[in-house]
Amino acid sequence: MNFNFNEDALALQDLARKFAREEMIPKAAEYDQTMEYPQEIFAKAWELGLVNGHVDPDLGGLGLGCLESCIIAEELAYGCTGMETAIEANSLGSMPLLIGGSDELKQEYLGRLLAEPIQAAYGVTEPGAGSDVSGLKTKAEKVGDEWVLNGEKMWITNGGVANWYFVLARTNPDPKCPSSKAFTGFIVEREWEGVNPGRKEINMGQRCSDTRGIRFENVRVPEKNVIGEVGKGFIYAMAAFDNTRPPVAAAATGLSQRALDEATKYSFERKTMGKPIVQHQAISFLLAEMASRTELGRLMTYKSAWQVDTGNRNTFNASIAKLFAGDAANQNASDAVQIFGGNGFNSEYPVEKLMRDAKIFQIYEGTSQIQKLIIAREHCSKYM
Ligand SMILES: Cc1cc2nc3c(=O)[nH]c(=O)nc-3n(C[C@H](O)[C@H](O)[C@H](O)COP(=O)(O)OP(=O)(O)OC[C@H]3O[C@@H](n4cnc5c(N)ncnc54)[C@H](O)[C@@H]3O)c2cc1C
Repeated sequence: MNFNFNEDALALQDLARKFAREEMIPKAAEYDQTMEYPQEIFAKAWELGLVNGHVDPDLGGLGLGCLESCIIAEELAYGCTGMETAIEANSLGSMPLLIGGSDELKQEYLGRLLAEPIQAAYGVTEPGAGSDVSGLKTKAEKVGDEWVLNGEKMWITNGGVANWYFVLARTNPDPKCPSSKAFTGFIVEREWEGVNPGRKEINMGQRCSDTRGIRFENVRVPEKNVIGEVGKGFIYAMAAFDNTRPPVAAAATGLSQRALDEATKYSFERKTMGKPIVQHQAISFLLAEMASRTELGRLMTYKSAWQVDTGNRNTFNASIAKLFAGDAANQNASDAVQIFGGNGFNSEYPVEKLMRDAKIFQIYEGTSQIQKLIIAREHCSKYM
């Protein structure tokens, strides 16, 4: 066992930390209020190599491991999880392509992300099917040497700004066909005829992140834009989560750490009954619980990322990390608001935003209930 980062990872952490403190935190409240997409921040992060780090070196990327991606995600999320989600969505959008795509397709579409600060998106969820991915209704039919795509996606991060989307569509209409064979993944360009992103959704938190529905009407997709094998899209789409849930857990941990830091600083400054509130045991115990949750979420995140980097299956631990860190972020944000008292409820102070931003960590990339289903399935399979 070795809990030390190597020099490269430490340098990356320093870089991301400095960027979050100097560029993101000063603008976070403004972006939250205006809900404007943080393209300026995205472009600066991209310049520094803090975006798309997961792309293989033979495609021109940095080829960062999952642990390094987690280190970046935690630091950026400390600054603002709305901006971090906008950045992280590129890796979710491109992961099925990295897992299943041909070299030619990877070079074209991942190459675009490396050439300029543009976005990709992951288009799986629909108005009628989120947790129930097998219930997707978007379909693609082969007509001549093209596919014709019809359907509607919902809640797609980067939906209005992406240059291209990963889209999962049903290609086998037989309802008895298993999910592992019924769906195909496609790369669909934003500018193609029939691709219609909807209005920007107004969300509770992470408000500068761009979330939209997208309607696909008779969109003609060339055969070369099929990811991997026809019928295997569900497998690529789900496998992506083993790589992306650790960074999501890392982002939740970044928010937990921020809540802890803000609450601790405040508790040293604020006085009641003649002493700083940190000297009331009720407050210092809250801080102790917050610190414990942050440390535990981080440890589980690192373990699930280490498994990816060492070629081990991490589905069980990635779900535990996502579940625990998501819950920890929500509890820490709520406790931080409590420690701030009335000020915590007010937008002049940073913690009410943390509480709004935290909620999504229990919903996207699989809800907390779905993580429990996965953890239970993986656990029980060992006893069968
Ligand atoms: C801001 C935001 C960004 C998002 N970004 C993306 C994106 O980029 N790409 C994308 O494809 N999707 C994205 N999503 C969609 C997200 O992944 C889904 O919202 C999520 O998976 C839940 O699906 P749902 O909303 O349909 O809820 P439902 O599936 O309808 O779930 C409703 C409730 O029932 C529970 N539930 C459902 N099934 C079960 C079950 N079998 N057992 C126990 N409980 C169950 C759920 O946990 C939840 O509490 C995003 C969502 C939001 C809000």
